[in-house]
Amino acid sequence: QKVEDPTVESVSNVPDPIALQEIEFKNVCFSYSDDGPDVLKNVSFKLKKGDRLALVGTTGSGKSTIIRLLAKTYTGYRGSIKINGTELSEIPIAQVRETISVMHQEIFMFNDTVEFNIALGRKNISQTDVEQAASFVYASRFIDQLPGGYRFVIQDNGDNLSKGQAQLISFARAIAGNSELIILDEATSAVDSITEQYIQQAIANIFSTKTVIAVAHRLSTIRNSDLILVLEDGQIIERGTHTELLEHGGKYARLLHQIEAEHKQN
Ligand code: ATP
Ligand code: MG
Repeated sequence: QKVEDPTVESVSNVPDPIALQEIEFKNVCFSYSDDGPDVLKNVSFKLKKGDRLALVGTTGSGKSTIIRLLAKTYTGYRGSIKINGTELSEIPIAQVRETISVMHQEIFMFNDTVEFNIALGRKNISQTDVEQAASFVYASRFIDQLPGGYRFVIQDNGDNLSKGQAQLISFARAIAGNSELIILDEATSAVDSITEQYIQQAIANIFSTKTVIAVAHRLSTIRNSDLILVLEDGQIIERGTHTELLEHGGKYARLLHQIEAEHKQN
């Protein structure tokens, strides 16, 4: 067992995370190419520490693009994105990475141990942190049953895990970093009903302790959010709580019926 020298860590040049207070998008427009169409059009919203924000909308409406901009996966937006009043373009990407943890729609697994896939070589994450994170998101039960447990070697693309197990590991990965803001681009792949319950409980646990932006497909995730933004063709067309938007009887209400119908099929 290799033990890291704590003095090494303290002099390394990993920037401190931002103590998150507020995120604000103001009239954000974005195009993936110089001559391409805007896929985000005047997107504005505000998020405070502890808030849970859900992004919903049909495929291609711009949900993932919003979080790619916030995570600085893409730059070159117009308008303004501020974290605690500082323009995102002024914040180094290394500091953004320390502050925000992103669970992408496409789950990536390394051909390495479960432990590595959760810690990802981040120096400040101990084995205990890995196990605590796994337990917090209900991944520890299935990990304990793998041959070798945390030393079980995952194949490329997570081929020797179920889709649901890979999701739970990616949750543990996001939580282990102890970031202030968790971004969850919820995967749509169907999982068995027991794993589905674990996933929903894991999301509920994350919601109870973190500031979260979730691209949400699950009814439970959407319902538990403080604010829902409904996107269509790069624009926010409705915003409010679940109850407010249902009463409004617009696009959200229609989307929800669709989601409910899909649930009944499964
Ligand atoms: P889904 O629910 O299918 O994940 P989404 O709401 O996340 O959809 P985005 O991925 O944000 O949608 O895409 C918004 C628009 O931007 C779409 O028209 C899409 O085709 C386009 N787009 C997304 N990624 C790229 C890219 N890398 N290059 C060019 N266009 C892109
Ligand atoms: Mg998406």
